[in-house]
Amino acid sequence: MTAHRPLRTAGDLVEAGLIDASTEEAISRVASRYAIAISPVVAGLIDRADPQDPIARQFVPDAAELTLTPEERADPIGDGAHSPVTGIVHRYPDRVLLKAVHVCPVYCRFCFRREMVGPQGLGTLTPSELDAAIAYIADHSEIWEVILTGGDPLVLSPRRLGEILERLGAIDHVKVVRFHTRVPVVEPHRVDADLFAALKSSGKATYVALHANHPRELTPEARAAAARLIDSGIVMVSQSVLLKGVNDDPEVLAELMRAFVETRIKPYYLHHPDLAPGTSHFRLTIEEGQALVASLRGRVSGLCQPTYILDIPGGHGKAVISAGAIEAEGGGCYTVTDFRGNEHAYPPQG
Ligand code: SF4
Repeated sequence: MTAHRPLRTAGDLVEAGLIDASTEEAISRVASRYAIAISPVVAGLIDRADPQDPIARQFVPDAAELTLTPEERADPIGDGAHSPVTGIVHRYPDRVLLKAVHVCPVYCRFCFRREMVGPQGLGTLTPSELDAAIAYIADHSEIWEVILTGGDPLVLSPRRLGEILERLGAIDHVKVVRFHTRVPVVEPHRVDADLFAALKSSGKATYVALHANHPRELTPEARAAAARLIDSGIVMVSQSVLLKGVNDDPEVLAELMRAFVETRIKPYYLHHPDLAPGTSHFRLTIEEGQALVASLRGRVSGLCQPTYILDIPGGHGKAVISAGAIEAEGGGCYTVTDFRGNEHAYPPQG
């Protein structure tokens, strides 16, 4: 059955054939804590015959979300520790996050901001909060880049987005504006001339980071939506999360990175999953992640290589965590490992 509106409750999921009626009560308990939304496009991508479907795993809630582990945190990447005013996260000197909205067109079951997004979340900035956030950016001349995230900033109407972007455009020291979004994948029809005109209305260099985790998300419609953005002059990069049962497989990961590059989207970040509450069923070890990332080296083009990163809990920022290919041996000598796992001396001996 194809849905024509987003699925938002356990009852909707039973009706759409995405969960069994026997699990409705447990899923309602999950829903009372973490928002559910599955757009019609995403519902249509789910293979109901496959109990391990990687699209379903990302969006259909699971009773496992009720299991909390001691290392999990409500604010796993420490946004709160670096928020000088509501809606701003200023973690690194030259850039800020501007979180204008905490709503998304879909809710990912592994979301690192799952305690902040959704109908019970932090909502949209009020006009006075938005004024204060923009005043903060204007007052800090070291801010070179503004990253609109949330929530998904592309849920805002083109008119609202345009208003915010024009205000950022008036701040001389801001040179780059970046959006983090899932919209081109989950609601590709919304990527129209009005939207990309709004995105570009700051007049700054404009980047869109597309969040997708499985190659099946890069449908012809999603690729066409990305092409419209890119052809309008916007640069696109990717961000993905390494997730058990979704993309923790060398072939799937390679296919995902190739799909981005074929779509003219440069693979950018591959996130190690954060310690978000109720997400332990998605987490793999760092060693498993490093082995998967190393498997991309020989398998796919250099263009397809993302940077594997960990957001250090507590708000200490991102660290690159790929396995090292080079080890110091002392005296200016190194051992370097090639993509087949063979070791070589550098500089070569003799
Ligand atoms: S789109 Fe981003 S902010 Fe929204 S639910 Fe998914 S991971 Fe969280």
